[in-house]
Amino acid sequence: MRKPFIAANWKMNKTMGETGEFINSFIPLVSEAEGVDILIAPPFTCLNEASGLLQKTGIRLAAQNVFYEEKGAFTGEISAQMLLSAGCSDVIIGHSERRQYFSETDEIVNRKIATARKNGLEVILCIGESLEEREADKTFEVLEKQLTDSLKDIDPNGMTIAYEPIWAIGTGKTATPEQADEAHTFIRKWLNNNVKNSDQVRILYGGSVTPENIGSLITKPEIDGALVGGASLNPDSFAKIVLGAKVSS
Ligand code: PEP
Repeated sequence: MRKPFIAANWKMNKTMGETGEFINSFIPLVSEAEGVDILIAPPFTCLNEASGLLQKTGIRLAAQNVFYEEKGAFTGEISAQMLLSAGCSDVIIGHSERRQYFSETDEIVNRKIATARKNGLEVILCIGESLEEREADKTFEVLEKQLTDSLKDIDPNGMTIAYEPIWAIGTGKTATPEQADEAHTFIRKWLNNNVKNSDQVRILYGGSVTPENIGSLITKPEIDGALVGGASLNPDSFAKIVLGAKVSS
């Protein structure tokens, strides 16, 4: 049995003041949610602020990206050690927006995962197919390639995988629980076939998750939680998703 895991990806939203307001409202709303792991990924500029406010709450703090080099002349990049010093325990790597707008390939994703893990950060690896790939019946082929290339020479035990169909991200179009379950079952089988003792690796669903649809998603056996974008920006709706994962699991 894997513990449900609900993660917030704020993307490029919220200032430091807004981060404080969110966390101060959110903490009391999830005080009854012991059975669920919770994570928040604010922008880099708000990590330190969030880290102070989240202390002793058990809520994990993630960055939305990391660079694969350890330090040096890489203007604008952020290293794993910088994230640790800002209070992060986790980092999201390979989000489809990074792949789409910043040309991140599986090879770059692989290098980022290796550096993050070497430095002791937990990793949420995002994978998922585009609409064209789904319509061309290539979903499993795409997922297999992303898993194989992103995890080359990496043991994913201790990591989390987020299945995020690109066509469902920020569009209001959620994959049906059956579509999500089919992809999660494929990922689970890939893990079983390629990685020893990987039954504790959690697989999250991401793509227009809301308080209304979390219940039907989380009841699927291979869906261990959710990575939430839009609906994580409001403390009430994110808390409802967390509590929905607890109730239904
Ligand atoms: C995401 O960006 O990871 C995401 C799932 O976004 P949304 O919930 O807004 O679709």
